Amino acid sequence: MSHLEFQDVVVRFGHGRSAHTAVDGVSLTVRPGTTHGLVGESGSGKSTVARVAVGLETPTSGVIRLDGVDITDRSRTAKLARRRVQMVFQDPMAALDPRMPVGSSIAEGLLATGRAVNRVDREARVRELLHLVHLDPARAGDVPARFSGGQRQRITIARALAAEPAVLVADEITSALDVSVQGVVLNLLRELQSELDLTMLFISHNLAVVRYVSDEVSVVRGGRVVEHGAADDVLTDPSDPYTRELLRSIPVMGEALDLEDAI
Ligand code: ADP
Ligand code: MG
Repeated sequence: MSHLEFQDVVVRFGHGRSAHTAVDGVSLTVRPGTTHGLVGESGSGKSTVARVAVGLETPTSGVIRLDGVDITDRSRTAKLARRRVQMVFQDPMAALDPRMPVGSSIAEGLLATGRAVNRVDREARVRELLHLVHLDPARAGDVPARFSGGQRQRITIARALAAEPAVLVADEITSALDVSVQGVVLNLLRELQSELDLTMLFISHNLAVVRYVSDEVSVVRGGRVVEHGAADDVLTDPSDPYTRELLRSIPVMGEALDLEDAI
């Protein structure tokens, strides 16, 4: 089980007078086998934190370490280590090639392991992964359009898991889905957390969703962590006024998402 650590990470976009600091000195630790939730309003820098963790952005300063290895520099060691951090995005339709059978998309995830896999083993592994996310393995040949939104998101989760990630980064993965299927995806995630001992950075603007899957929570505002602690403490009795305001903006926690009964 792996350990992901952000230390004083700054991400600045643009130069001079138009420069904008999206992430302003974030430090946080995703402990082995646990889920660290990152919550904050739109524009607070959450996605930039996710993108910098998988190498889609380069930090202006600061360090990100996976099991002690700096994954932010240009070295080959960093590049290989970065492959072990896999991301699931908000919009599964945009994340999947519409012409590619979903089994082939999942098989692409296997490449990140760096191991050669023959066709028979690859197909077996794809079936196993489809089964793991509760989809019919016989549908590996279908294109994404033949699946529902929630099913497509489960396919992108299977693709990320194919890479045998040390850490999974999930950025608003239920935000584009119908409320009725959000719970299905979240319950699957909880099941995978306990079955696979996943280490996860879970990002959402929705406190109820974050609370449902997270062990620890960091609240971000304007690119800074304003509050951090055990999920239940932070989200039941927040000490920071911003977190209290976020809590108030959710009328009744979990009411819209009937989480426990969703599966
Ligand atoms: P969140 O995911 O919390 O909504 P983001 O990380 O997407 O926030 O964005 C944080 C801030 O950084 C926003 O003000 C956004 O406009 C800005 N930003 C994000 N990406 C870029 C970029 N590539 N170039 C310039 N500004 C960006
Ligand atoms: Mg975002």
